[in-house]
Amino acid sequence: MGLFGNKTAKSSGAHQWRGVIEEYRDRLPVSAKTPIVSLREGGTPLIYACYLSELLGNDVWIKFEGTNPTGSFKDRGMTMAISKAAEDGAKAVICASTGNTSASAAAYAVKAGMRPVVLIPNGKIAMGKLAQAIAHDSTILQVNGNFDDCLTLARDLATDYPVALVNSVNPYRIEGQKTGAFEVVDLLGDAPDLHVLPVGNAGNITAYWKGYREYNQDRISSKLPQMWGFQAAGSAPIVKNKTITNPETIATAIRIGNPASWAQAIEARDSSGGVIDSVTDREILAAYRLIAAKEGIFVEPSSAAGLAGLIKYKKAKKLPTGKKIVITVTGHGLKDVQWALEGAAKPKIVPVNAKAAAKALGL
Ligand SMILES: *Cc1c(COP(=O)(O)O)cnc(C)c1O
Repeated sequence: MGLFGNKTAKSSGAHQWRGVIEEYRDRLPVSAKTPIVSLREGGTPLIYACYLSELLGNDVWIKFEGTNPTGSFKDRGMTMAISKAAEDGAKAVICASTGNTSASAAAYAVKAGMRPVVLIPNGKIAMGKLAQAIAHDSTILQVNGNFDDCLTLARDLATDYPVALVNSVNPYRIEGQKTGAFEVVDLLGDAPDLHVLPVGNAGNITAYWKGYREYNQDRISSKLPQMWGFQAAGSAPIVKNKTITNPETIATAIRIGNPASWAQAIEARDSSGGVIDSVTDREILAAYRLIAAKEGIFVEPSSAAGLAGLIKYKKAKKLPTGKKIVITVTGHGLKDVQWALEGAAKPKIVPVNAKAAAKALGL
């Protein structure tokens, strides 16, 4: 057991998921010397979506990453990045973040006894995520620039000063995140036909594709899925094939104009026969409301980009039918509640009286 390993509690045969490194140790670049820093991330639910399956004419499964310890898939990569930083003796870690990376980096850094430093862009960061970075005791610098500027600054600092960079340009992040694909195959018994997800910095689409390919090479799955990624229309550099200087979208987690894993995302799209396309903020918000209202799954707006894309393709009659589709919904709705509250009707006021309440409810 590593320095930060979880003690095993004695119990009556109950057991809990051990975290992605312990569950997939033989497929990750760790050794007996690596101190495993884990909050027991991964092992997230894969939920059959009855309503969406009917709507889209396919078997639709939701991989709900909002149930990770800090509420997004970033924890899968962060357990790897921080464990390797600990192995290298790092005392401080730095990241540029639209929110979820900093929330995750901060939590794992303090778990490892390191100091977290977070660079956030001017404006537009969801309050829930900022609250997480603060709660986990990070030093926060607000940079006069956008996310892409923050990443440049973080890289410069990590090159010249004793801080470890834990953005997804850190290759260990991709390694950790590929476990999402392993879990899907382990639970479905094979790869799906389509895997759909939002694309921001493009680390996750890269990671899933890597995971699917590794399982396929080792014959754990019999096929590979098409990778379908969706960017927000106002920040769709891959779709437009040019960097976007001032990316705009309400989906702050994918508000990125120059993705770090751009080339890898193109590779995933092309060798899987998939697509990378864009959806408008309006389409994202409609999908965001639908998945909460009909499937009982509350995600943040960025996370709904994949579903928004499927609905768009269905409407354009470009969606196949009868396929098995997995949609990764990347982060929890509680991180960015503004969009759920916006435009919501005020609750009716009733006296403490069952008859009056029943009348108000139309019962
Ligand atoms: C980071 C993030 C994304 C984008 O993932 P990339 O790997 O940057 O493409 C999407 N949704 C949420 C909630 C995120 O935190």
